Amino acid sequence: MAEKLAPREKGFSEWYVDLVQKAKLADYSDVKGCMVIRPNGYAIWENMQRVLDKMFKDLGHKNAYFPLLIPESYLKKEAEHVEGFNPQLAVVTHAGGAKLEEPYVIRPTSETIINRSFAKWVQSYRDLPLLINQWANVMRWEMRTRLFLRTTEFLWQEGHTCHETEADAEKETLQMLEVYRTFAEDYMAMPVMTGRKSESERFAGALRTYSIEAMMQDKKALQAGTSHNLGQNFAKAFDTMFQGRDGKQHHVWQTSWGVSTRLIGGLIMTHSDDAGLIVPPKLAPVHVVIIPIAGKASDAEKTQVLEKTHALAADLKKAGLSVVVDDDDNKTPGFKYNEHELTGTCVRVELGPKDLAKGTCVMVRRDVRQKEFIPLEQAVAKAQEMLDAMQKSLFDKAKAFREANTFEVNSYEEMKEKADAGFLLAHWNLDPKVEARIKEETGLTTRNRPFALAQEPGKCVVTGEPSPGRIVFSKAY
Ligand code: AMP
Repeated sequence: MAEKLAPREKGFSEWYVDLVQKAKLADYSDVKGCMVIRPNGYAIWENMQRVLDKMFKDLGHKNAYFPLLIPESYLKKEAEHVEGFNPQLAVVTHAGGAKLEEPYVIRPTSETIINRSFAKWVQSYRDLPLLINQWANVMRWEMRTRLFLRTTEFLWQEGHTCHETEADAEKETLQMLEVYRTFAEDYMAMPVMTGRKSESERFAGALRTYSIEAMMQDKKALQAGTSHNLGQNFAKAFDTMFQGRDGKQHHVWQTSWGVSTRLIGGLIMTHSDDAGLIVPPKLAPVHVVIIPIAGKASDAEKTQVLEKTHALAADLKKAGLSVVVDDDDNKTPGFKYNEHELTGTCVRVELGPKDLAKGTCVMVRRDVRQKEFIPLEQAVAKAQEMLDAMQKSLFDKAKAFREANTFEVNSYEEMKEKADAGFLLAHWNLDPKVEARIKEETGLTTRNRPFALAQEPGKCVVTGEPSPGRIVFSKAY
């Protein structure tokens, strides 16, 4: 039998870390806070990249690549940016056996070095909008790390754009937030709240930060993606200017937006169970595993079973599915069932001599784990139907869970009582000191002010002062 996972009930964190390692998604390394992404995990990242990359390119963005090392002086050009990132920087001081004249920072994000290029590339309003994306690794010296969710080195994409007007930049910021929402909901089957972050959670150097926030199965929030309206802050620091339609020089208006390998952690924590990983079919590296069962069968029967197995695999592949045939004689069928449940194969097909005699096979959907007997000639159609149903059902289940664990609260007492209950929609007076006090006393942080929530003014639960509308408070990763 494959080794059992620590169950979620006993401790969600332990379960998560156990799953990530046993499903061979990622592993710890000897480098502080850095992880090894194993092939099973990297395959999910590649699928995420493929989908997101197409979504970005369909909107006119182009990929480019900028250096990993950023001259320290670049970061210092934008005061708030350097102050925000300083505690998290890793700095290279020596190279080629000598002390460097100017230290290099390992990029924590690339607004500065990219603006150095943008300042050269942009001359006139005809060069705008400039829509660039970079797929890269970044480094932020995090104190408390957790596989995928928060690592010191992580993989991500960072979009960086320049626009003629403030309105164009705001439109782009919100458009990319909507791209992230679509990706999270339609591909990851992970419902998210889109909205604006509080001042204290705003990206260092941005005018406004927006996020997508998801609820994990332990009712904690995960910030799954961010989109920033940078205004002209970096443009002013780097003289990124253009000649406008009026013939005068203007600073460009900019945005940046990013999602990281944290999404893999979010996907795991949204859907998986005590048997292991569950991956939404649209992002699953393996859709179907066929397990031929030929234990006590005669040689002739075994040959027949294997022939039919490979024929079915070919038909499933022809239909565009990713298929694995697990015909390893050294493992029992039971072992294989557990192993494919652990690693998140969406549909399992079992095929033995008895099934073949009846012209059927057994099919099991990973998330519901119920056996169904299906005529062989319907197996391809049934697999597709199961994958579609699974994609939808994972989203519906996660959404129902979030809705069941989201509450309006109208007093600080109620907030304290419900601190571990999920998303709390509460009025707050926008004062960062009050936000800090709530965090200190309850562990709750502001997530975002959801667009979907009708924003009616009210009274701050702590001070009774005016509040423009409810914001989501939650414990968070
Ligand atoms: P930011 O540049 O801070 O807005 O972050 C961009 C994206 O990277 C967000 O989606 C974050 O959730 C994610 N992210 C930030 N820090 C980390 C980290 N240490 N590990 C993994 N993902 C991260």
